[in-house]
Amino acid sequence: MIKDVIYRLNNELPATVKLVAVSKFHPFEAIEEAYAAGQKVFAESRPQELLSKVKRLEEIRTQSGDALYMSDVEWHFIGHLQTNKLKMVLPYVSLVQSVDSIRLLAAIDKWGAANDRVVNVLLECFISDDETKQGLSEKELTEILSGEQTYGNIRICGLMGMATFTEDESVIRRDFQRLLDMQQVLHDWIGESRNVVPGCSELSFGMSDDYKIAVEMGSTMVRIGSMIFGERA
Ligand SMILES: *Cc1c(COP(=O)(O)O)cnc(C)c1O
Repeated sequence: MIKDVIYRLNNELPATVKLVAVSKFHPFEAIEEAYAAGQKVFAESRPQELLSKVKRLEEIRTQSGDALYMSDVEWHFIGHLQTNKLKMVLPYVSLVQSVDSIRLLAAIDKWGAANDRVVNVLLECFISDDETKQGLSEKELTEILSGEQTYGNIRICGLMGMATFTEDESVIRRDFQRLLDMQQVLHDWIGESRNVVPGCSELSFGMSDDYKIAVEMGSTMVRIGSMIFGERA
């Protein structure tokens, strides 16, 4: 049961770790069930799917006449975001966890300026051996922090990373350590770079299969999908 897993995770996770329920590929009803168990933050990885769930919620509010139904729900975006899809995502999310290129960062900043919004983001770092995964290199991270370019309509809240898809725990730990090393780079720039401000200390790492290791290593945000909602179709 979705509810039971949410209760169990809330019991298990330290208060310093935020649970993000990854609802991608699951129907809106599954989100409602998790919400009924107290879960507020949900993450989606595809713009169209996020948008249709946001619209579905609006529709339910209209039909039921309950304008406040699930009014404190929060959406995060965790997938690869193309710059031509920003308007499908940015108006609805409280955090974009997956800023994986300088080009995307600049595009989000531009959107923020045009729409009078400051967009909360995490910089997604490439820490695994999987070439298919996205993410910034340490060089690109340093470039963002040290560069002339400033991003006035972005608030960098921290870093996100995904470990290699493997059962070898030592590899997972090595990957997570790479993220911690990149966080050190970020911290070294606090006060020096106009692009980071104190408090940018979120570290989003850990999924269904590796969240225990992540929590042990200092994660502040775990993104859990299949463990809560079951296998994705
Ligand atoms: C799908 C996804 C998750 C959740 O993965 P599970 O193994 O189902 O917990 C977490 N993070 C990202 C970026 C994802 O795309």
